[in-house]
Amino acid sequence: MRSDILIIGGGIVGSSIAYYLALRGRSGDIIVVEPDPTYALAATPRGNGGIRQLFSLPENIAMARYGLSFFRQFETEMAVDGDPVPIGFRRQGYLFISDRGGDRQMEQNFRLQIANEVRADCLDREALHARFPSLCTDDVALAVHSPDDAWIDPYAALQGFRRKARSLGVRYVTDKVVDWQGDGRLAKRATLASGETVDADIHVLAAGAWSADIGAMIGLKLPVEPMARETHFFLPAVETEPLPFIKTESHLAFRPEGRGFAGGMPDWSVSAGWNFDASADGFEKIVWPAVAHRVPALETLKLERTWVGHYARNTLDLSAIIGAWTGGIENVYMAVGFSGHGIMHAPAAGRAVAELIADGGFQTLDLSRFGWSRVPNAQPYGEQGIV
Ligand SMILES: Cc1cc2nc3c(=O)[nH]c(=O)nc-3n(C[C@H](O)[C@H](O)[C@H](O)COP(=O)(O)OP(=O)(O)OC[C@H]3O[C@@H](n4cnc5c(N)ncnc54)[C@H](O)[C@@H]3O)c2cc1C
Repeated sequence: MRSDILIIGGGIVGSSIAYYLALRGRSGDIIVVEPDPTYALAATPRGNGGIRQLFSLPENIAMARYGLSFFRQFETEMAVDGDPVPIGFRRQGYLFISDRGGDRQMEQNFRLQIANEVRADCLDREALHARFPSLCTDDVALAVHSPDDAWIDPYAALQGFRRKARSLGVRYVTDKVVDWQGDGRLAKRATLASGETVDADIHVLAAGAWSADIGAMIGLKLPVEPMARETHFFLPAVETEPLPFIKTESHLAFRPEGRGFAGGMPDWSVSAGWNFDASADGFEKIVWPAVAHRVPALETLKLERTWVGHYARNTLDLSAIIGAWTGGIENVYMAVGFSGHGIMHAPAAGRAVAELIADGGFQTLDLSRFGWSRVPNAQPYGEQGIV
């Protein structure tokens, strides 16, 4: 097979890149290689779908803001043949809680968020209690509430991107890249598990937590590794006021989901590797006590389900790497290492990579600080405070 552009990995990031390139009229020339059209093990359907502007890096704020506006219109904008694509866009806000001594950082981030036109409120203990009476605020130094933030059903959004990209002419090949070759100067060809090959002028790596293994095939050494993270879905016994997506410095992260809640407590220090087994007592010993502490009304609840997904953890700085492999093989582009932010940042990342390829440079958001060069230069560009 031959194409102008080969995209390796058809998750939400690869599919967003394909969609934005197709919008530029490049559709007939794009092949996305994705082994699993059901995305059973991919991060996207296992993610929590949160979209928030509460970041400390201006680029992350801007990307999330674009994601918010994009996903708000998704249902109609991504319709194919007039068939809408509901993704459960729910604008119910985010709440960051300082409960581990990081209040000065959170306040500093808040000022930056306000300066970047994020609608957010900085709440002391009393104000927090007045706004969300079911929260325990005893140990809270400060909180930041962003009412415009939201969440979506990420699987529906992924399938929506994919369907739209295909309707614009992008070709998805159900296969797996097992080798990736170049001549030292340019990438030339990917070999697939079926034995087929794809030759392309431009190669884009967007394979989430699998990216480092694939990059290694062509000599690209990515600081990206799979980090297992559990999510639990639980039903409360009593109702609370509508709660936002809550994230605390002590790593609790959960949000309303249907009649219940979904979330967990990522362990950022967990060793790298694939592990889809849910722990026997992680919910009971760690997550439930933390939830019940923060929202005492959730002391009584029923655990319905636990699943594990994998962050593509960028060990340099937990931020995405977006752009060309500068100083390496320059017809190779990447959008990898999104850690816990790849759903909300997928629209902006897709648009950015399409601009780099089609226009030769960023046109809307300048994401050069997320570029590859910070890896060889060992210059982290990461979030301060809650990641
Ligand atoms: C528990 C959890 C909660 C999260 N919560 C949020 C959240 O609230 N908000 C948010 O924005 N983000 C969240 N994330 C992060 C988000 O899910 C990811 O950053 C995002 O889904 C990454 O998308 P992706 O397309 O890069 O990767 P994936 O969705 O993993 O897609 C990568 C694709 O590459 C394919 N692939 C693998 N090997 C090959 C190969 N050899 N050849 C070709 N293709 C290959 C895979 O089949 C896969 O479909 C969460 C993640 C987890 C695990």
